Amino acid sequence: MVTEFRNESLANFNNQDVAKKMKDALAFVALHLGLEYPLVIGGEKVTSKDKIKSINPGKPSEIVGIAQSATIDQANAAIESAVKTFETWRYVPAKERADYLFKAAEVMKKRKFELSAWMVHEVGKSWAEADGDVCEAIDFCEFYAREAMRYGEIQPCLNLPGESDTLRYIPLGVGVVVPPWNFPFAILAGMTTAAWVTGNTVVLKPSSDSTVIAAKFMEIMEEIKLPKGVVNFVTGSGGAIGDTLVAHPKTRFISFTGSKAVGLHINELAAKHQKGQRWIKRVSAEMGGKDAIVVDSEADLEAAASGVVASAFGFQGQKCSACSRAIIVADVYDTMVEKIVEKAKNIKVGPTVDPQYNMGAVINKKAFDSITEYINVGKKEGRLVLGGDKAHEDGYFINPTIIADVKPGSRLEQEEVFGPLLAIIKAKDYDHALQIANDTEYGLTGAVYSKNKAKTDKAIKEFFTGNLYVNRKCTGAMVACHPFGGYNLSGTCSKAGGKDYLLLFLQSKAVGELVGQSSGGRP
Ligand code: NAP
Ligand code: MG
Repeated sequence: MVTEFRNESLANFNNQDVAKKMKDALAFVALHLGLEYPLVIGGEKVTSKDKIKSINPGKPSEIVGIAQSATIDQANAAIESAVKTFETWRYVPAKERADYLFKAAEVMKKRKFELSAWMVHEVGKSWAEADGDVCEAIDFCEFYAREAMRYGEIQPCLNLPGESDTLRYIPLGVGVVVPPWNFPFAILAGMTTAAWVTGNTVVLKPSSDSTVIAAKFMEIMEEIKLPKGVVNFVTGSGGAIGDTLVAHPKTRFISFTGSKAVGLHINELAAKHQKGQRWIKRVSAEMGGKDAIVVDSEADLEAAASGVVASAFGFQGQKCSACSRAIIVADVYDTMVEKIVEKAKNIKVGPTVDPQYNMGAVINKKAFDSITEYINVGKKEGRLVLGGDKAHEDGYFINPTIIADVKPGSRLEQEEVFGPLLAIIKAKDYDHALQIANDTEYGLTGAVYSKNKAKTDKAIKEFFTGNLYVNRKCTGAMVACHPFGGYNLSGTCSKAGGKDYLLLFLQSKAVGELVGQSSGGRP
């Protein structure tokens, strides 16, 4: 019997026994750094001549693991393997596919601390952020397994007299899944398992910044004995093999999460019909954000400041949902700036292997340089009130940085930075604040703090974001509670973790079957 879905509980690291488990997992991972991981094509483990090093951003001399840099031929072979496997996998009953996914969730629960420890090393997550990532992956597995069973049922339609009329959902075919490095386990697991639990086969191309945790996901697929060829794993830079996978005439759909630039590129390339291609490719592209928290004069200012700081600096501000704009109504502006700065000063930046640090390094040198550049822009566009500098000698550490008095329409107010940099903007009043909040090309997450119900109701009606939060922070969406995905150039509003999500991986077939005396219907 399948029980009702429940979110996986977070680990309480204040409990000494739990903390000990995490320490042991980190010690285990420290002994297994630098190993090499293969491609997996049709269940075969293969290597390539060129390699990709995955490094610890908090200690760039530490090689977390070595992945293959797949060739174009290997990318094509991965698609062919997925094409071949689709011919059998598509007919496996939904319940059986779901059972594989329930097993995957069990393995993830068993290996929870180890999986977290890999992310602490590979992408610089704090213990709590890494644990949240694994819990979300478990939730995706548990939720999509149940959902796949629901969509696997024959759906009744209104019967025409004399007929049995039904609709059933069937898979699409071969999907190319391209996740980002920032939720390197949760988003990867969510997109990949959603694709195969609905009967599709997959070519998974993870981010080059997080190949090791991706390889751990593949180990889990092997451990649950998912049939060979259902998930084919090709590591390699997007620039080298991405276009091959997306443009392949046998690719049926692409599930992408990442930057606006790459998402738009994929969408354009996928739209071009290739010789021999028998369908229009389906693209879901979840992209960036310029998420805002609006603080009204009638708000609980303490709670609002805490919400802003948690949303802006959690995982170094490298969440698509991160608050990168605090838009504050003039009456409480100065007080709020002060409160936000005071709270942000408590953040401890350093190597997150050590739990005293709750903020780690940014993902790589390129990100470090780009965020530094934005800090320089911010210093010109506004007033630096906190941070603005590097935190440690070694590693890509940047202190929590806050720029106040940022003007609507300026670069810092409009462009996604993807780092620990918060812009604070003054609004004349609440309506003006909402207007500023809506005035970007994005529309992913947002929050409002106000005790005035009429005002929060207005935000519910008019704040144009896929995920809106009222009197709470704008990060930390939970599977099943907050289906996730945004508007405009934030993406195609996939609503990951929601009840509509699996439809993106399915098409439907209506069957009208004569079972009695035909009533004819329409001519
Ligand atoms: P990215 O640079 O766009 O990369 C995302 C993925 O695309 C990576 O696996 C990357 O591989 C691959 N890629 C690059 N070029 C490609 C091409 N030509 N064809 C196919 N794939 C290609 O994004 P990121 O830096 O990993 O992630 C950060 C971004 O993701 C931010 O903008 C953030 O807002 C967004 N994000 C959005 C959501 C959401 O739900 N809306 C969630 C999380 C993150 P390589 O890196 O190996 O080249
Ligand atoms: Mg990247």
